[in-house]
Amino acid sequence: MKLFGTAKINEKGNLSIGGVDTIELAKEFKTPLYVMDQELIETTIDKMKEAFQSSRFKTRIAYAGKAFLTTGMIKLVESKGLDLDVVSGGELYTAHKAGFPMKRVHLHGNNKLVNEIEMAVEYGIDTIVVDNEDEIAKIEKVCKEKGKKQAVLVRIDPGIEAHTHHYIKTSGLTSKFGISLFQENLIDIVKRLNDSPYIEFKGFHTHIGSQIFQSAFFIFALDEIFKYLDRLKKELGIVVHTVNMGGGFGVYYKNGDDPKPIEEVLSEIITYTEAMEIKYQIGFKELCIEPGRSIVGNAGTTLYEVGGIKETVGGKTYVFIDGGMSDNIRTALYQAEYEAGVVNKMEDTDTRDVTLAGKLCESGDIIIQNGKLPKSTKVGDIVVVGTTGAYCYTMSSHYNRMVTPGVVFVKDGKAKVAVRRESYEDLLRNDEIFEL
Ligand SMILES: *Cc1c(COP(=O)(O)O)cnc(C)c1O
Repeated sequence: MKLFGTAKINEKGNLSIGGVDTIELAKEFKTPLYVMDQELIETTIDKMKEAFQSSRFKTRIAYAGKAFLTTGMIKLVESKGLDLDVVSGGELYTAHKAGFPMKRVHLHGNNKLVNEIEMAVEYGIDTIVVDNEDEIAKIEKVCKEKGKKQAVLVRIDPGIEAHTHHYIKTSGLTSKFGISLFQENLIDIVKRLNDSPYIEFKGFHTHIGSQIFQSAFFIFALDEIFKYLDRLKKELGIVVHTVNMGGGFGVYYKNGDDPKPIEEVLSEIITYTEAMEIKYQIGFKELCIEPGRSIVGNAGTTLYEVGGIKETVGGKTYVFIDGGMSDNIRTALYQAEYEAGVVNKMEDTDTRDVTLAGKLCESGDIIIQNGKLPKSTKVGDIVVVGTTGAYCYTMSSHYNRMVTPGVVFVKDGKAKVAVRRESYEDLLRNDEIFEL
């Protein structure tokens, strides 16, 4: 399996991350365990910041919190000077409690509840990304009541069919997200926002999909958006200051994945936007992006202990681990693919085909279909699955009353608990024994 960041084989022959032996991590914090390579997150952010700059307009990078969010992660994002994207009241609350500057927060979502909009306006967040017409009335009502004005972007759909897995494609003419650039009443919506005394209309937002490998899709989207901005300026005299290109930058999961280095993708986006800004001269001032997976994906790994190995009559070999779809639902949800290893046999090339299966009561509870592990894999071994930093912890569930694993950040030979492992007691926290 491919190693990232500080992950390496130490002098004992074990996988270490952040200078900490993974065998020790498994012993101390129990398995399953999410391990985050703090230095890799930091250096990735630094690379992005360096590449995503222009002398012609302002740039902003917001971390898409839904990929992986804890108060510790929010502190890291704050220290690195990034903005933060949230999609719910719960994420807003977490950011607030973590002491994140709310002026750097952006709220997304296709069905923001009135109380979420109230929280956002009260906290004084930077931007609400408006998804649909019904939302406008809600924002106006809240702002009127509170005597505030809220900056907004409008989520548009430029109709770019990004080449990615069907279920995680969010752009196209039937998407549940945003308003199509090709919908005639988009102009009326923009006019309404622009005229509203409670709203400051700043521009457009788009997010064309996830796990996108070809930067051309971002370029196509920029092209469509700038054409539209030009039209708005010419027809209505409305100047759009801000364009947010969303996230979706692809990362390596398995052999064959070959994403372009993120700094190259971001440089291409900057260069193209500069060309558009020069070509149209429409008062454009700010370009934003919102990476999630590309900041934390490769930095995360999950450790499990092997509990059994089953050879079926049908010739399929299962390696059973002590977690499963409760800590990583991505394989079951959209056939995600991963690489795995055994932490003290990382260089053992004498492998065989195995299916890495969880312990939950679902046949679909698989982490890796037809993967490879050393033939010498045995009960008690610690298995590692790579690139689990994004959309694993945040999608975890209590199915089968599994406890949510702990999360540790490792750096410079030290492991710090970011989320403590749940106890059985924690599972009963909100249960009530009511009178029958
Ligand atoms: C999910 C999402 C992101 C982040 O996507 P990644 O694939 O994790 O980079 C950014 N913006 C919006 C609006 C999203 O929905």
